[in-house]
Amino acid sequence: MYFRSTKSIEPEVSFKDAVLRCLPNDGGLYVPSKVIDLRQFFLYMDERTSYPELVATVAPALLQGELNPFSAARVAEIDFEPELTRLDENFSILNLYNGPTGTFKDFGATFHAAVLEELLKNNSGAIILSAVRGDSGGCLGRAFYGRRGLTTVMLFPSGPIRGIDPAFFIHNGGNIIPIQIRGTLDDCQRLVRETINDRPFSERYCITSANAINPGRLLPQAFYYLYAFVKIKKLFSGGLFFSVPSGNFGNLISGLYAWKFGLPVNGFIAAMNTNDPFGDFIRGKEFKPRPVVATNSPALDVSVPSNFARFSSFYEEAPAVMRHIVFPASIDDTATLKAMELAWTQYGMLLDPHAAVALAAARDFFNKEKNSFDHMIVLATGHPAREAAVVEEATGQKVSLPEKLALLKKEADPIAIVDPHLGTLEGLLASCL
Ligand SMILES: *Cc1c(COP(=O)(O)O)cnc(C)c1O
Repeated sequence: MYFRSTKSIEPEVSFKDAVLRCLPNDGGLYVPSKVIDLRQFFLYMDERTSYPELVATVAPALLQGELNPFSAARVAEIDFEPELTRLDENFSILNLYNGPTGTFKDFGATFHAAVLEELLKNNSGAIILSAVRGDSGGCLGRAFYGRRGLTTVMLFPSGPIRGIDPAFFIHNGGNIIPIQIRGTLDDCQRLVRETINDRPFSERYCITSANAINPGRLLPQAFYYLYAFVKIKKLFSGGLFFSVPSGNFGNLISGLYAWKFGLPVNGFIAAMNTNDPFGDFIRGKEFKPRPVVATNSPALDVSVPSNFARFSSFYEEAPAVMRHIVFPASIDDTATLKAMELAWTQYGMLLDPHAAVALAAARDFFNKEKNSFDHMIVLATGHPAREAAVVEEATGQKVSLPEKLALLKKEADPIAIVDPHLGTLEGLLASCL
């Protein structure tokens, strides 16, 4: 599988190079350059196929020659699975929050870490440099902890550092180095870009990043769309839709990849909260970003999605097709709470507010499009315990944090606190290694 830049100036690169470089030099983002048809691999699977089996089959087919079947089997072996629950004739929920930090991002981060470990097996080691905050730090910490040859440096903005066990730190025998930058998340992200673009330095120390923009995190998210289809295909003949709570649009783009790989799907609902100006772009109008307002589904509080260039590359290729496959929706806080209440009273299911945005959008769509509609799979992206206060407000139910998620609240100290300057950071990196 080859990748090109959304700006198309640079030549195509292999999966391994796209994953290691993260960002093309021309300022674009990496996107697959050719469509690969995976139907021969997943159409014969059925509800008995396990998630690791599916991944071990489709990943080497996608990464032709770059990931051998033995490596793929190791990468696919994870201890959490997506879980599909049928609510009724019209709706199912795809639970994606069974991972170690309770969001769908565990799927992308875990695969990315495991695949890097395999791809770099014969190298002398690499540094994974990422800008993180709160939850994303915890997610990467779990995914990369203990991976052979991968030293994981995380840049945190000012403020408390939560979600990483100090037992994972390098001075305790682990491979994680948390560094606090005197500045904002933007400063941390800029430093990651600058370090990677300092090619002599980043090549010398083999530096790459695990930020969500990396194609190594997006590609594996396509697998759970295929898995949901495989689980449900016997029950329905067509008219399958997915409703995806969308902030930076990484999850939805992965669904579009699954469609490009041959997934028979009629459409995707881009479920946004009131931060919805991006819906205008999807409708073919001018996109005028607005300042973000805080809602009860914070992961969707985004002004300009970080995957904007990737998303619009689909529209440059086939605008009319895209307008018939992605449908924007906007759900406010009140409707979100109502959907949570309905999921609880009608189906006995506790949803987090992000999943509730997707369920509310799915029900609105159903009411308008009954004829083209057979079944809708709603993506539950976050564990309800992560938003316990909102869940209690909507349903009266108290949810306590499962033991495995308790780490998310734990605070840790950084290994160093430095100013947001490239030279300072590079000096520190060189001395750490
Ligand atoms: C990150 C996140 C989202 C948004 O996903 P994108 O890929 O940014 O669109 C939705 N729900 C939860 C719980 C999240 O953590």
